[in-house]
This record gives sequence, C-alpha cells and structure tokens, in this order.
Amino acid sequence: MAARSDSLERYIEGVRKRNPGETEFHQAVYEVAASIIPYIQDKPRYQNMQILERMAEPDRVVMFRVCWEDDKGNIRVNRGYRVQFNNSIGPYKGGIRFHPSVTLSVLKFLGFEQTFKNSLTGLPMGGGKGGADFNPKGKSDSEVMRFCQSFMTELARHIGENTDVPAGDIGVGAREIGYMFGQYKRLTNEFVGVLTGKGLEFGGSLIRTEATGYGTIYMLDNMLTHAGNSVEGKSVVISGSGNVATYAAQKVKQLGGKVLTMSDSSGFIHDPAGIDEEKLAYIIDLKQVRRGRISEYADKYDAEFHEGRPWGVTCDMAVPCATQNELTGDDAAVLLANGCMAVSEGANMPTELSGIKAFQDAGILYAPSKAANAGGVAVSGLEMSQNSARISWKEEELQTLLRDIMKDIHDNCAEYGAENGKVDYLKGANIAGFVKVADAMLAYGVV
Ligand code: NDP
Repeated sequence: MAARSDSLERYIEGVRKRNPGETEFHQAVYEVAASIIPYIQDKPRYQNMQILERMAEPDRVVMFRVCWEDDKGNIRVNRGYRVQFNNSIGPYKGGIRFHPSVTLSVLKFLGFEQTFKNSLTGLPMGGGKGGADFNPKGKSDSEVMRFCQSFMTELARHIGENTDVPAGDIGVGAREIGYMFGQYKRLTNEFVGVLTGKGLEFGGSLIRTEATGYGTIYMLDNMLTHAGNSVEGKSVVISGSGNVATYAAQKVKQLGGKVLTMSDSSGFIHDPAGIDEEKLAYIIDLKQVRRGRISEYADKYDAEFHEGRPWGVTCDMAVPCATQNELTGDDAAVLLANGCMAVSEGANMPTELSGIKAFQDAGILYAPSKAANAGGVAVSGLEMSQNSARISWKEEELQTLLRDIMKDIHDNCAEYGAENGKVDYLKGANIAGFVKVADAMLAYGVV
C-alpha cells in the first residue's frame, strides 16, 4: 500500500512540475491517478509504455487572440483556446466555454476529464475542450455575434468533422453555436457536422439540449435501483439554473422526486413546495430567453432567495450542476449531517477532493461527473452520426439510446468499481474510461 501511495505522489509531483500553477488540472489528474495507479500496478504493459504519463500530456494546445468591436466602437481583446487532448479512439470532442474564469488550467482539466468520459460512452470520440475568457453576460446579441465570428475565424483552421468537433458548455448555448456554425460554413464553404448542439433546422439532434441533465438523473436512478431504492418521493437539491440544471430538475420531477433548490452565481432559491413543470418553464424563460437572475423566482413564487450555495438545505440527494469546485469538503459534511444519501454530478468536477473523500468515507452513492454527465456528449456523438449519414433520428429512438447508454455506463462502472459487495463509482468510472483509451494507445506504439 505504501508503495502505491509513493508512486501516486511521485507521479503527481511530476505533473505539478511540468504544469506549474495549473491547480484545477492537478486536481483532475490526481483524482484519476489515485484509481489508475493501483490498477496498473500488476500490468507492466501500461507501466512500461508510460501510458498514464502520456495521457496527462495534451496532444496539442492552441491559444489565440480574439479581437472584436463592442457596440460603442471600442476594440476588445480576449484570449481563445482549444486543447486537443487525446484522439486515440476518435476525433477530439468536447465543449467550448465562454466565462471570465476560463484559463489554460481549467480547459486542460476539462479536456483530460473529457477523454475518459467520451471513452465511457462507448462511442468513437476522443477528448478536447476549448473556450475563451469572454463574458457573454450583459453583452448585446450583436456583440456576442461579433465575438463568436472572430473566435471561429481562428478556430476554424484547427477543427473539422473528422478532426475535432466542439459543442457548447458554460456560456455557450444555441445562440453561440448558431453564430459559430454560420461563420465556419462561411469560411470553408462546407456544410458539415463540425459542431454539435446545433439548431434542429441546421443539423442538430433532438434531445441534445436535455441530454446532459436527463443523463445525470438516469445515472442517479441507476445507482439507486442497483442499491434497491429509487428517486420517487425523494427531495433533491440542485445547483445551477442553466442547461444541465434545468433538465436535471425536469427529469427528477418526471421520476417522482421533488426539486427544492436551483441557483446561479448570485445565490439560490429554496422552494419547499418543489419546483414543478410550470415553475421550471418560468426558469427556462427567465435564464435562457430573458437572461435574468434566479432571485426573480422568489419575487414570483412562494420561495426564499439566499446568497451562497444551496448545500445547507436538508435533502435526500444532491445534484451539483453549476461549475467546478462548487461543493467543498465542508459542504459535503453538511449534506451528510443532514442525511443526504446520494450525489450525482451534472457539472464537471463540482466536488473538491476533500468532499469526494467525505462521501466515500460515509459510504453514500456518489457518481463522478465523467460518468454522470456523459449523456450530453453521448447525444452529441449521435448528432455526429446523424450528420455523417445526413439523416435525423426520431425522438423515441434517441430517448431509448440515451437511457441505454447511461445504463451501460452505470453497469461498466459497477463492474470495474465492485468492492466488498459495494460499488466505488469513482474508481469504476476511471478504470472503465482508462482501459479503452490505453489499449488504443498501446496499439499505436510510441506516438
Ligand atoms: P450554463 O451556462 O447553461 O449554466 C451554468 C449555470 O451555472 C448558470 O446557472 C450559472 O449562473 C452557474 N454558474 C456558472 N459559473 C458559476 C460560478 N462560478 N459560481 C456559481 N454559479 C455558476 O452551463 P451548462 O449548464 O451547460 O454547464 C454547467 C456545468 O455542466 C459545467 O460544469 C459544464 O462543464 C457541465 N457540462 C455541461 C454539458 C452540456 O451539455 N451543456 C455537458 C457536460 C457537462 P449564472 O447564470 O449566474 O452565470
């Protein structure tokens, strides 16, 4: 055991030295390596070929200037990125994030995680991520359009339907994807599936919008079923009020659970009566059409608004759907003290390492993001297939495919994570995601 933790510390020390100051990236690599290093201990083929070392090094990183003009005629400068992490099992695939907190470290952690997540879906997709430190909040539609066009003017030369297929993420929804796809089409004179999350009129897939949130709750439901329980009648605390949070809330409601909270970066609303379909429709209009603040919900309905995060509200289950490290070790302790019995991560890496440890020590059900939120990229993969074949599948087919993929992800994690009659879903997700990518890398030799 000592030898294993020594080699984990040595490995992480190497990652820290090569990537100074990239704390989010170190955290993501640590979380994976803690499962993989013990697993490869007796598998010299992975060790001798330095597979884990190679997996922590992106294939390439592109960084570029994005210049655009605001409505007052001022010239603005942002920084754009695309991290092409690993294309061993398919073209790079992963979202684009527009948020002021975007840094190389954040995008490297997301691209690294994406490689494992995409492998878990069973579809042929490699891992990548991109974005810019641009803040769409408070910008006019014209400003967002000019930014997206400028961003794509540079990005276009690095992506392609068989090379790298970006999608949305924080701050990048249907509007931004439309502007970027339009610019790509104009630059290349090609109509191809180079982005996913597109509008239905120009090659988008049904249920892509809902897929990440729905998948996160399918993962929760699959874990509960495996443990002889269900979502029905349970209270659920959700953070965020964007794409993932909204459809996670809808699926909880459909499965008979009660959603008590939703949030944004200004605070959270607590509605003890539960957020039903009508209230959810109000939130979708408020956040995605009017681009307002979640606090307005408390003015309209009988609910409280509080600053901060929602983890102090007593619940049976927690589903973080906003951003990385939004659930600390202290938050985890509060959730556990209040009787929380399951956590499914809709956001990427929302729980700090100390929080994960607290959940695992307490033995509650914990689904890490790379498994729990893989439904979004899975349906993006299905969008790519539909684009290549120039067809559109029906909603029922896609709903069934999403449910089946999430069930397979659950079962795969349960197989690799089985431990003394229980399941360690983190270990299961890490190992199941690793094996396919690692075996492909072995097949390619030293590249
Ligand atoms: P959206 O931009 O649609 O929504 C993000 C939500 O999180 C908003 O409510 C936003 O509040 C809140 N939020 C963002 N940053 C912070 C912060 N620093 N502190 C508090 N609240 C914050 O993004 P998505 O719903 O698409 O993404 C949410 C998470 O899910 C991210 O981690 C993303 O990587 C992950 N994810 C998304 C997928 C997708 O298909 N969209 C796929 C897989 C993972 P505000 O409105 O105030 O900014």
